[in-house]
Amino acid sequence: MSSCMEIPSSLVKTKETARIVIIGAGASGIAAATRLLEQGFKHVTVFEAEDRIGGRINTIPFGENVMDLGAQWCHGEGGNVVYEKVKDLDVLKPTGEYQMHFLRSNKDILSEGQSRAIAEFLATFKVDENYEGSVGDFVTQLYWKDAVKDTDNKTVAKEALDCMKKVICTSDACDHLFELSTRNHLNFKECDGDQNLSWKDKGFWVFLSLLLGADKDKPGDQGSLKGHVRLNRRIAEINWSGSGELLLCWNGEIVRADHVICTVSLGVLKEKHPKLFVPPLPSPKLKAIDGLNLGTVNKLILEFEEQPLPEPMLDVMFLWVEADLRELQAGEFFWLESLCGFHRVDGQPRILEGWIIGAHARYMETLTEEKVLEGIQWLFRKFCTFDVPHPKRFLRTQWHSNPNFRGSYSYYPTYSDEIRAARSDLESPLSNMAGNPRLQFAGEASSRDHFSTVHGATESGWREADRLIEFYKGRDEI
Ligand SMILES: Cc1cc2nc3c(=O)[nH]c(=O)nc-3n(C[C@H](O)[C@H](O)[C@H](O)COP(=O)(O)OP(=O)(O)OC[C@H]3O[C@@H](n4cnc5c(N)ncnc54)[C@H](O)[C@@H]3O)c2cc1C
Repeated sequence: MSSCMEIPSSLVKTKETARIVIIGAGASGIAAATRLLEQGFKHVTVFEAEDRIGGRINTIPFGENVMDLGAQWCHGEGGNVVYEKVKDLDVLKPTGEYQMHFLRSNKDILSEGQSRAIAEFLATFKVDENYEGSVGDFVTQLYWKDAVKDTDNKTVAKEALDCMKKVICTSDACDHLFELSTRNHLNFKECDGDQNLSWKDKGFWVFLSLLLGADKDKPGDQGSLKGHVRLNRRIAEINWSGSGELLLCWNGEIVRADHVICTVSLGVLKEKHPKLFVPPLPSPKLKAIDGLNLGTVNKLILEFEEQPLPEPMLDVMFLWVEADLRELQAGEFFWLESLCGFHRVDGQPRILEGWIIGAHARYMETLTEEKVLEGIQWLFRKFCTFDVPHPKRFLRTQWHSNPNFRGSYSYYPTYSDEIRAARSDLESPLSNMAGNPRLQFAGEASSRDHFSTVHGATESGWREADRLIEFYKGRDEI
């Protein structure tokens, strides 16, 4: 630590003089910072490790308009703060009629009836709150006992179950369903209404632009946070010893603060907490960081000269015939087992988007783009009866390799049940003896009922801003 960055200090703090540092400019950091500024706090500084704001919301120009490399859908309407903010602006598009198409690795196509039955199971299964076991156990038992009990084709039914389990993993971010706690479904409070509203042509950035009062057409515009955000600043140490000011270190410089709101992802906390926090965090917080997980879900985005899926196909989902699966697992493209399928993207007529999960998604991140594309083209040839040409542009995400994220979104593994890890422990602020909040935590993983989403992240940022607003209430006159 060498030089010192000046953020004004005074003896008696009010919201005009309190120095607040927010670590991370994702949805939660932006929500906290904008609310504090709106409420009259003057010294709010956001340190962001990346060269852009937005975090796991990353809207980039692509194809006809934009693509979201991170968050993509607004999940629900009633009780969803994202929906509340944008509902009158005609920027969201409802899911509409959707028919899934399942292809087998021997090029058979499942009938409409078979496909509808699988989609129906996926859309309607609900975890029983008294069930003892993982989501994988629950889904497997329910499927064989109820959904396909009368089937005369157990082979295809098994292939479909394998595919469905992967689809569920993409929404829960776990590596596989047998490590997923039922708490992930039982504790998550679904907002009413359409679960997959897509953005018409400006991506998830629209939501951030509204929080920031920024330009809707310019992802990255800092709006009301101009002058308050420091990009390319990865905080290396937060010294919260004593009961007064906190000292943060970035690249040898010291930053002094009265309050810190830390919004880094659970993946960053897991990797960095031993060095990031001095002294170490208390044990309930460490238990939550250890027990909960940040899973990996990546996107594979292909832009073609024209849409390769024949009408009226909106997607292709892959079912592996057992012998083909064995062959795949023994070969260089083994990681393709965790690629569930590809679908069209609303408002992007020439694009296909695929999803890959878990350990294979992390392996995929280590390959060159050329190698990944080679695998995907092999996969299309293996499953499709129609030609899928070479794309004119290809992108894949690497959320796990990026040291500023280390994954995609959080979930409860069964291990977290075993050690009683709770999101409330991740949320709780570290205060001094007088009960004054000093080191606070926000971010999607700290949301008790809307974790893994943008609305949960936003609520968590507002929660911590409100904690400070409440603390400083009436202090202006001191
Ligand atoms: C592929 C993918 C698809 C998703 N799909 C959806 C969806 O459809 N709908 C939905 O609601 N949600 C979705 N999500 C989840 C959603 O994106 C996240 O829940 C939300 O954006 C998280 O916001 P956050 O503020 O908690 O964290 P982040 O966005 O991760 O913000 C934390 C910030 O901290 C920064 N940082 C890290 N370390 C440091 C440091 N030491 N110093 C300074 N800065 C640091 C990071 O760079 C980052 O910008 C998806 C996520 C992914 C990855």
